[in-house]
Amino acid sequence: MKKSQNDQGFSVGAETFLTHGGRNPAAQSGFVNTPVYRGSTVIFETLAELDDYTIRYRYGRQGTPLTTGLEEIVSGLEGSAGTYLAPSGISAISLALLACLNGGDEILVTDSAYDPTRKLADTFLCGYGIKARYFDPRIGSSIADLVGPDTRAVFVESPGSLTFELQDIPAIKSALAGKNIAIVADNSWATPLFCRPLQLGADIVVHSGTKMLGGHSDLMLGTVSANAAYWPQLLRTAHVLGIVASPDDTFLTMRGTRTLGVRMKAHEARALDLAQWLEEQDLVTRVLHPALRSHPDHALFKRDFSGSGSLFSFVLPPAGRTAIAAFVDGLELFGMGYSWGGFESLLLPVDPRKFRTAVPWDEAGNTFRIHVGFEDIDDLKADLAAGFARYLNSLGT
Ligand SMILES: *Cc1c(COP(=O)(O)O)cnc(C)c1O
Repeated sequence: MKKSQNDQGFSVGAETFLTHGGRNPAAQSGFVNTPVYRGSTVIFETLAELDDYTIRYRYGRQGTPLTTGLEEIVSGLEGSAGTYLAPSGISAISLALLACLNGGDEILVTDSAYDPTRKLADTFLCGYGIKARYFDPRIGSSIADLVGPDTRAVFVESPGSLTFELQDIPAIKSALAGKNIAIVADNSWATPLFCRPLQLGADIVVHSGTKMLGGHSDLMLGTVSANAAYWPQLLRTAHVLGIVASPDDTFLTMRGTRTLGVRMKAHEARALDLAQWLEEQDLVTRVLHPALRSHPDHALFKRDFSGSGSLFSFVLPPAGRTAIAAFVDGLELFGMGYSWGGFESLLLPVDPRKFRTAVPWDEAGNTFRIHVGFEDIDDLKADLAAGFARYLNSLGT
């Protein structure tokens, strides 16, 4: 079967592609996986070779057969012209934004964006004369009203990783028609298995590969994929900035992608089961999960996504830090920590109100973000139920 693919994507099912894409056993003595290439110097045999700039691997910073393999996998899944690997998700986002913005330009960012993305715009890009303005995540085609003469990029993260609003990328795309504005999408939550932003109208897609692609909480990596219009400038920017992902983390991410299909299906089923169960709990005032019928963007979710991720939030009634501590400190299975996407379940108290500037987040009560891993679902429910009892007991204390 065909083991590599071009920028038109691949001709087999996504799970077949995940299993066979981006590797070439014949090129490495038959071994199934491409080994870790640790390398800076590449030796040229002749002056003619040294002068030949079409040779694919000339120096470590320009990639190795291993990075090419993972880039092919992500490009195939996203349907992009190319993919570049970065050392983290946030460095992938900075690369994407630096590739399409110059001093004097403006970027419009969804108000629900991941906080470090906001920080990048507000504390770094602004130093280079790039202005960020934030928009209502549900803005849709009204984004046209915000676009100014200097607007060169729109950043979407759909759904947002704390509050889970969706952006209507096709509506945003048509509102921007004829303007030279890049739509940059953070697709970490859905993965290209469940949403393909380039097909919806985005120009550049980024992933925190640290999350679902890696899938085991043991690496840091980011990916940036672009359509044909933006790929040349993305590659140029990556090369001048000298962005390189670690060979070991690249290997581990590639290994993670082999099971991405089965993992995403398992995460989806468990997260939905737990989200529905949470909706039935008396103490829970709201569950924020776009695949639930109760979610305000559910229709958009059904239109643009073919599945849902591991991560969602729920809200408990107002209570102080003592009640929150009683709930989370006593959890036995849910770890409290940043990031998500691993095999283990996580639960984190979050306060989305702190990060909003365009539209206030006025949900009363305490919000908790959950990543559902692979423990027995009944054990997870029991852990949460015991926690809710502790929370209830400390209400009013
Ligand atoms: C974690 C995360 C990032 C940043 O990824 P790192 O690999 O931690 O740098 C970006 N976007 C979203 C939605 C994330 O959850």
